[in-house]
Amino acid sequence: MAENQLMEKIVALCKRRGFIFQSSEIYGGLNGVWDYGPLGAELKRNIKDHWWKSMTRLRDDIVGLDGAILMNRAVWQASGHEKGFSDDLVDCKTCKGRYRADQLAGAVCGLKPSKCPTECGGELTEPRQFNLLFQTFIGPFQNEEAKTYLRPETAQAIFVQFKNVLEVSRKKLPFGIAQIGKAFRNEINPRNFIFRSREFEQMEIEYFCKPEQGMALCDQWLEDRLKWYEEIGIPRAKIHILDVKDGDRAFYSKKTYDLEYEFPFGIQELEGIAYRTDYDLTQHQNASGKSLDYFDEETKERFIPHVVEPSAGADRCLLAVLCEAYAEEKTTDEKGNEEIRVVMRFSPKIAPIKVGVFPLLKNKPELVAKAKAVQELLRPHMAITYDESGAIGRRYRRIDEAGVPFGVTIDFETLEGAKEGDYAGQTDTVTLRHRDSMKQERVKIADLLPRLLAAIA
Ligand code: ATP
Repeated sequence: MAENQLMEKIVALCKRRGFIFQSSEIYGGLNGVWDYGPLGAELKRNIKDHWWKSMTRLRDDIVGLDGAILMNRAVWQASGHEKGFSDDLVDCKTCKGRYRADQLAGAVCGLKPSKCPTECGGELTEPRQFNLLFQTFIGPFQNEEAKTYLRPETAQAIFVQFKNVLEVSRKKLPFGIAQIGKAFRNEINPRNFIFRSREFEQMEIEYFCKPEQGMALCDQWLEDRLKWYEEIGIPRAKIHILDVKDGDRAFYSKKTYDLEYEFPFGIQELEGIAYRTDYDLTQHQNASGKSLDYFDEETKERFIPHVVEPSAGADRCLLAVLCEAYAEEKTTDEKGNEEIRVVMRFSPKIAPIKVGVFPLLKNKPELVAKAKAVQELLRPHMAITYDESGAIGRRYRRIDEAGVPFGVTIDFETLEGAKEGDYAGQTDTVTLRHRDSMKQERVKIADLLPRLLAAIA
């Protein structure tokens, strides 16, 4: 399948099945802003929950923070964002389009037929700096004193709360602070669906350490993060590791790895892991006049910790998960006709819905009652969908497209096997259908919950 065709199919499926919608769609949309529908909201939540669990709860050395989106403007002055968080922008004198100077190759202008600004021959202006911060005002006056910005990254709240978190958590170096939250950038050319948006979510860790630990920890984090992507179904083979060269890194960074995924539109950044030295804490210590140092009880030394930052985008991660999951297969329907099955092969761990529950026929009250009982059995433990309309094969296809890993069908054998009064389902069985292999097996209702819980853990 051509790569652009694949992307079109994924975008269409996202809309059709309710993963992702254009923001403000009924008003013509809003460029670079997206809403997550019922399936997308579950999927994103599962990705973030998995990140949070693996990065904080399953480790002793990382604690969480949930900082505010709005911060004192002084934060953005000290961090360098107010002056320097910019991309180079060029204007095309022919089509009047505005483009990010380093991304002309993939851009298209508004003229019909639409052309890439490098190919149309239109004259481009000299690049000029365009600041990506979204401005806003705090309080009733709209003047310089009231000005601040929507945060363009979550990291700064971690730096400015470093001392508070250190004190309350009583952690020793090395230790980290993790945060998930919204970030806003007025991107010049949002594009590639949710890949480059103006409002997005980040999952960031600032991992504080002694200066001599920084380089090795950067490599350790690279391994940890690759492992994490594998856990959610993105294989190592699809992630390219870019060891960012001297000169291309931020001036304060001694080492930076970009983890890039093979998206259908090209190999592009999924996450950055940067050894940022003591730059951020030093900036905030100097600007605020408040000490942000660390006292090492063993050596009796006081110093500003260094930091390694694994910074991932939740939306880009979700897009990679969608791309990795999408599959089309030739198969036959119940009547033996050839058909294409579209299946989202999400890892059961992050699949938005874990199981579909189906009574074989909707006009048989015994089947419906039993199916509802199975629904109630599973519902407290996992996201489920219940569907009683249409041929069973069609219902399976519907859950395949939604990436539901398991289907449970209550059929006549279920009723035959059940002993009277066996409400716990010790004897009666259901059909358990597996999304990927399409294999079906009979499983006792009593075994269903532990089987499914083990599969989605
Ligand atoms: P790019 O070069 O693609 O603009 P960046 O290097 O500026 O990205 P960082 O500032 O390192 O990105 O942000 C960390 C992560 O946040 C990125 O790896 C990405 O996953 C996510 N991210 C950054 N900008 C956006 C955006 N506009 N839309 C969606 N996710 C983003």
